[in-house]
Amino acid sequence: MASITHRTQTRPVKVGNVTIGGSNELIIQSMTTTKTHDVEATVAEILRLEEAGCQIVRVACPDMRAAEAIPEIKKRIHIPLVVDIHFNYKLALKAIEGGADKIRINPGNIGSREKTEAVVNAAKAKGIPIRIGVNAGSLERKLIEKYGYPTADAMVESALHHIKILEDLDFHDIIVSLKASDVNLAVEAYEKAAQAFDYPLHLGITESGTKFSGSIKSAAGLGILLHKGIGNTLRISLSTDPVEEVKVARELLKSFGLAANAATLISCPTCGRIQMNLFKVVDEVEEYIQKIKAPIKVAVLGCAVNGPGEAREADIGIAGGKGEGLLFRHGEVIRKVPEDKMVEELKIEIDKLAEEHYKK
Ligand code: SF4
Repeated sequence: MASITHRTQTRPVKVGNVTIGGSNELIIQSMTTTKTHDVEATVAEILRLEEAGCQIVRVACPDMRAAEAIPEIKKRIHIPLVVDIHFNYKLALKAIEGGADKIRINPGNIGSREKTEAVVNAAKAKGIPIRIGVNAGSLERKLIEKYGYPTADAMVESALHHIKILEDLDFHDIIVSLKASDVNLAVEAYEKAAQAFDYPLHLGITESGTKFSGSIKSAAGLGILLHKGIGNTLRISLSTDPVEEVKVARELLKSFGLAANAATLISCPTCGRIQMNLFKVVDEVEEYIQKIKAPIKVAVLGCAVNGPGEAREADIGIAGGKGEGLLFRHGEVIRKVPEDKMVEELKIEIDKLAEEHYKK
């Protein structure tokens, strides 16, 4: 099936200093929740996203005030900036002029040929790509009439329609998303898209829900696609602080071995043998390893009886004992530590391993 190797067969598309598609790693994106014209608030949120590991950020551009804020925002952030525009070509031109690294606009919705050409030529002149964002909830009326309701085929047909407009203008730096809030529909649409064209795919389940339900729904849908080798960049859409979107995206990529430099947590599945305050410790260690940029496996286990053996693949770990903890490496105990120093000692060992990795 063509879709199995779709990811690496896509056309590489540059977005600022990041490349989406081809043999490049999957890129984590998020979107700000601030009013884009409020530069202070928007930059502050983007800097928090950067720190969390966001690699490309998108801002909404509903009006000219937002478009005019782009140059100042760009100056103060360090990751590529995508500007999201609906219909209005003047906003697109302003955003491009202001230094947007990519715009998200559906060319079929811009209006007259002259307006579409103006936007495409401006993007071409600056060497920036355009993302076509197909959304099941806002498909063209003629497609709804043809298919009866939003189907995967209708979504792919919509994508192909927008792609053709760009290709006819000799524009090929295209990225495509086909989002739906229905997981089955989104999966089917992306699978069909992967067989229909070789532009990079931006994955997402839209309106997925809260941090809890949305993370599960997104992981369920995107997990199927990632496993099949589909997808070059992703945004987890959650109704919460966007920093959470980045954390969930990274965790999802780690689950599939698609995040090269990230630490992973192995934690006790829990049972009645627990001999420490496991839940608190696990949360603390999980939070700590978010900032580690090395492929280290860290284990936190509830007891010393089965613990270290159960987590043999861990590079470093702790197992709870009576009033003390055991620090172990690859299943072998290296030393005992008092319970109240356990996490601290573990953090020191994690840092040492990370340092060793950075020096390599
Ligand atoms: Fe139970 Fe110990 Fe295994 Fe945790 S590590 S599940 S406490 S046996």
